[in-house]
Amino acid sequence: MAQHDFDLFVIGAGSGGVRASRIAAGHGAKVAIAEAWRVGGTCVLRGCVPKKLLVYGAHVAHDIEDAAGFGWTIEGAQHDWAKLIANKDKEIGRLEGIYQKLLANAGVTLIQGQAKVVAPDSVEVAGKRYTAKTILVATGGWPVIPDIPGRELTITSNEALDLKERPKRIVVVGGGYIAVEFAGIFAALGSAVTLLYRGEMILRGFDMDVRSFLADELRKKHIDLRLKTDVTRIDKTMRGLSVTLTDGKVIDTDAVMMATGRAPNTKTLGLAELGVKLNEKGAVIVDDWSKTSVPSIYALGDVTDRINLTPVATAEGHAFADTLYGNRPRKMDRRDVPSAVFSQPSVAVVGLSEDAARGQGIAVDIYRTSFKGMKHTLSGRDERTLMKLVVDRTTDRVLGAHMVGADAAEIIQGLAIAIKAGATKAHFDATIGIHPSAAEEFVTMRTKVPEAAAKAAE
Ligand code: NDP
Repeated sequence: MAQHDFDLFVIGAGSGGVRASRIAAGHGAKVAIAEAWRVGGTCVLRGCVPKKLLVYGAHVAHDIEDAAGFGWTIEGAQHDWAKLIANKDKEIGRLEGIYQKLLANAGVTLIQGQAKVVAPDSVEVAGKRYTAKTILVATGGWPVIPDIPGRELTITSNEALDLKERPKRIVVVGGGYIAVEFAGIFAALGSAVTLLYRGEMILRGFDMDVRSFLADELRKKHIDLRLKTDVTRIDKTMRGLSVTLTDGKVIDTDAVMMATGRAPNTKTLGLAELGVKLNEKGAVIVDDWSKTSVPSIYALGDVTDRINLTPVATAEGHAFADTLYGNRPRKMDRRDVPSAVFSQPSVAVVGLSEDAARGQGIAVDIYRTSFKGMKHTLSGRDERTLMKLVVDRTTDRVLGAHMVGADAAEIIQGLAIAIKAGATKAHFDATIGIHPSAAEEFVTMRTKVPEAAAKAAE
């Protein structure tokens, strides 16, 4: 039998790669992990974590505005962007240290450098070749910038998290998670934000009620949301940048942020040369066990472009390590994965949207409510909350829960357990609300949206 340097060689020390390495090592495997940059990956270094810290910072601006209605006088409140970024960097440094310690304590060998797979059992890093029985690709993704004149003048979420100064004016392009989250951060902190989306309505794939409700709320936050509008070119001017739009209009701005999707990091890995099948976007094609078309090579997380969320990558990594090294074969369960968009207000969902359920031929009952939260009766803020349940009419099971409003992620996380456990609308009805809270509305919705109205809204 061939002797290998390692049982498992992981490429990419992000959420999925680190979890897979630690668990595999815990099961007794000899593991190495290669990382070209810092340990932590997109989520810790330039994604979920720094973004959420900025979202918290931005929320404070709203709290200060809301304070007056509760009797507070807050004078001279100033925001120091550089301080927020410095504090965020410090926290990320701390988390990186924790990740490094976790790997070291698990006995995983960390190898610094860009890795390339050179054979089904060999990886090259910084001119050195390592062999391993199994290779796991967990290299994540990277922002894509459309090929338009002036693209080199734009930034992506990577740079937005490290700007030395907050731009007074910014144009954000895209209608996905990242676009609406950053539009919210900059707007709350005082930037004039224009959000451009090429389609009919932001957040494609989300429930239609959620999408239009959020669009209205973003506009209330003074975000200049322009739908069916894209950028054709960007030029440098004496006072910043000028952005030419598909409708012929021109916007003067200080920064243009492209949030136009992410592509899997596979270009320099040498996978296709070895027969590993990639899809048209360059994502590694894997089966339910995260195995590629080459039996010794596996891949998981964003590089496979399935459900691009950190907790999904870590779950995939854990299942992979348990299966190969823990004598506990299991696949990651992809049903009812909850997710949130940390816009202002936030969005969180679990399960099927109304359209998706109807698209599957399921007869559904819809329960929907929207209201002004109690806090805003005194704050005076014109912000509303939306809650919606999609219920299977035949089985009474709750197929989807959707929310736009403060603390949506915190609320939907709990509902996700109920939905995962197969809760019916009768279970929701039998649950006593916590009063006064916004969350209690999820257990007090009694009136179905009339079928004709629900259908008309499709
Ligand atoms: P998304 O794929 O969600 O959105 C990309 C957006 O850019 C879409 O609105 C898309 O439009 C638009 N777009 C794509 N190409 C172009 C183009 N050439 N010109 C103009 N517009 C374009 O990507 P994100 O970058 O927002 O996020 C990437 C992934 O990261 C998400 O899929 C998500 O899974 C994950 N993520 C999760 C977060 C969370 O859980 N809170 C936060 C941030 C990211 P169209 O709809 O027409 O295709």
